[in-house]
Amino acid sequence: MLHYSCDICKRPIDATTDVRHVVKIEVFQAVEEAEEPGCCDGTSRADEGDHLEEMQDLLESIDERDLDRDDAFGDGTQSLRFDLCDACRQRFLRNPLGIKAGKKLDFSQN
Ligand SMILES: [Zn+2]
Repeated sequence: MLHYSCDICKRPIDATTDVRHVVKIEVFQAVEEAEEPGCCDGTSRADEGDHLEEMQDLLESIDERDLDRDDAFGDGTQSLRFDLCDACRQRFLRNPLGIKAGKKLDFSQN
């Protein structure tokens, strides 16, 4: 039987009594999707011609990059996976990025 432990508090997670939560985080470089033509935004319609050309260039460059790569995730995409106990899951969801809250907030939670 597999044994898990919480990646935050290191507490062992007993699958028979504890709920194990899995957090998956994918970090990758954003590739701006071309906007839908005819979008309600009036400003994008004015330079639609340029826009389409840019889109074409973008698509071509993506194709080239894909050919150069062994796998789609060769561009620095990182996939992280954590096992969390129930308590840490709740804490994580409250502050997924670990941003330091004001001391006031910490105080009131304790
Ligand atoms: Zn935990």
